Amino acid sequence: MSVVVKVEEKLFQNRYKVDSGRPHISIIDEDKCRNHCEAQACTVCCPAACWTAEANGQVTVISDGCLECGTCRIICDEHSNVAWEYPRGGYGILFKFG
Ligand code: SF4
Ligand code: SF4
Repeated sequence: MSVVVKVEEKLFQNRYKVDSGRPHISIIDEDKCRNHCEAQACTVCCPAACWTAEANGQVTVISDGCLECGTCRIICDEHSNVAWEYPRGGYGILFKFG
């Protein structure tokens, strides 16, 4: 008999080490998000919910908990507005605990 495990439960098994003050993902031009990107797709594609659309149209990203999947960078291809790099060694996502 197979056991069904929800995505949320799988994500809970991961651990994340924050590199304080050194986010590895950032927005290059916030005005581009606010005024020139209607879809703001980054705010709905991220499996870790790092991206948020504010009521005033501003978009924010908090890279704590990022799974390093790269989706936000690819989905922003039209605007090339995501500065993305891997966290420094020893920081970031640690997959599959438990
Ligand atoms: S997809 Fe790119 S340009 Fe659009 S809101 Fe997200 S980061 Fe900004
Ligand atoms: S790389 Fe993936 S998990 Fe990390 S912020 Fe982008 S979409 Fe989210």
